Amino acid sequence: SSDEEGGEEYLFKIVIIGDSAVGKSNLLSRYARNEFNPHSKATIGVEFQTQSMDIDGKEVKAQIWDTAGQERFRAVTSAYYRGAVGALVVYDISRRTTFENVGRWLDELKTHSDTTVARMLVGNKCDLENIRDVSVEEGKSLAESEGLFFMETSALNSTNVKTAFELVIKEIYNSVS
Ligand code: GDP
Ligand code: MG
Repeated sequence: SSDEEGGEEYLFKIVIIGDSAVGKSNLLSRYARNEFNPHSKATIGVEFQTQSMDIDGKEVKAQIWDTAGQERFRAVTSAYYRGAVGALVVYDISRRTTFENVGRWLDELKTHSDTTVARMLVGNKCDLENIRDVSVEEGKSLAESEGLFFMETSALNSTNVKTAFELVIKEIYNSVS
């Protein structure tokens, strides 16, 4: 869309999905506010946070949606996905079941959104190397077979958090500009 001066502005909706307790809310709070909560409850109560970045001298805003814990009951609604142009599909590298459930989340995403969604597979909690339960190679391989970007992150120590969100945002920008 264009503003009155003829410049362009961009607003992209991005959703974060994945099993309960994989670190979705902390990835968002780390990215948007540089905060980490070791005792985070399922519900923080904020539907989304808006974060801006500069690409090619243009202000690009990402409206990043976090579940309010509905994933615990497999009750994430179509409203959550509506209009999303990007998605982070998160698992916990220390809990294999969360990786095994990635396929289910990808199916749900496909059902509720356009095929043009920029998608990244995120293996979170990479700081927990000592209790790793999913190898980097397995993550990469799943991402390749499903056509997703892939990154391991840590919301705890900030590894790759900004990089992961910004890669998705840049990918969306490139596909629309
Ligand atoms: P959500 O249910 O997917 O939103 O997960 P939360 O963000 O609420 O995090 C669940 C739990 O995992 C909390 O106790 C967090 O402190 C913890 N956690 C989140 N991200 C990380 C991480 O990168 N490393 C470690 N070690 N713990 C994390
Ligand atoms: Mg949460």
